[in-house]
Amino acid sequence: MGIAKHFTATEIFVSDGSKCDCGYILDILGDQNKVAITDPVYPVYVDTNVMAGHTGPARKDGSYEGIVYLPCTAENNFVPQPPKEHVDLVYLCFPNNPTGAVATREQLASWVDYARRHDALVLFDAAYEAYISDPKISHSIFEIEGGHECAIELRSFSKIGGFTGVRCGFTVMPKTLLARTDFGKKLPLHALWHRRWSTKANSVSYPVQRGAEALYSDEGRQQCRALIEHYMGNAKILREACEKIGLHFYGGTNAPYIWVQTPKGLTSWEMFDRMLREISVVVTPGSGFGAQGEGYFRISAFNSRENAEEVARRLEKL
Ligand SMILES: *Cc1c(COP(=O)(O)O)cnc(C)c1O
Repeated sequence: MGIAKHFTATEIFVSDGSKCDCGYILDILGDQNKVAITDPVYPVYVDTNVMAGHTGPARKDGSYEGIVYLPCTAENNFVPQPPKEHVDLVYLCFPNNPTGAVATREQLASWVDYARRHDALVLFDAAYEAYISDPKISHSIFEIEGGHECAIELRSFSKIGGFTGVRCGFTVMPKTLLARTDFGKKLPLHALWHRRWSTKANSVSYPVQRGAEALYSDEGRQQCRALIEHYMGNAKILREACEKIGLHFYGGTNAPYIWVQTPKGLTSWEMFDRMLREISVVVTPGSGFGAQGEGYFRISAFNSRENAEEVARRLEKL
């Protein structure tokens, strides 16, 4: 939570959650942008672009024409390199949902470098930054030099303070961030974003803002820390259970998600069915997050300790 000191208060836009801002941001961007999205991915990035009419038709595997997909595979540790081709807008999310992967400082720097060379905009979703335990991993794209010239960062209180239903987050829109217009002119996005918010919304209700403020009190910080430690304790239990029965998995150390390979060539949905029928456990099929998610499923650590332990016991019966 330590990025505010680099920005003025007017560069922080309190929002009703980062999912919402993910979609709203398209209001101030053009219709013809080349958009790059990681695969697998939090479905909101793709679907909001589809709804805004920014893609071509759907293909058989559920992907869309017109989007530049960046495959995240075991080979690249689920962190893609910038593409060779030009794109205008790229969505990055680290720690990642669904893979639980984190990007190193060098990997983020290569994205900032790409964005500056291509006049591209990075939408950096840091919803899970508080789950990072490795001190070498950056919590914000603004820790990378030049990030404030090319990136917008989305922050959420949902996974930090249990605000998924309460609805509050914030978007960091640096005044130094310039976007290129159709005519090659560079303009700050800040004024457009301010205009968008004041035209279509009136920010977040006062009681909810006071609730979010309380997350920053001494007591609030302690409670958030305890909550995150609780979920990461579940993640450890679930990782160990996977290990015990020989499932190959990734993530679950800097993120509350464990990304598990399906055994013996089962598809994501076949594994989903098997776990539901045999042990009455619901997981998320990886193919729902994109074509590259096929052959994986996601286990979430967002649960009670009792449930995490019960899932660990049932996994042994699989
Ligand atoms: C949960 C989540 C969010 C948070 O969304 P809110 O609208 O703030 O609840 C954002 N991005 C990702 C990748 C998520 O998984």
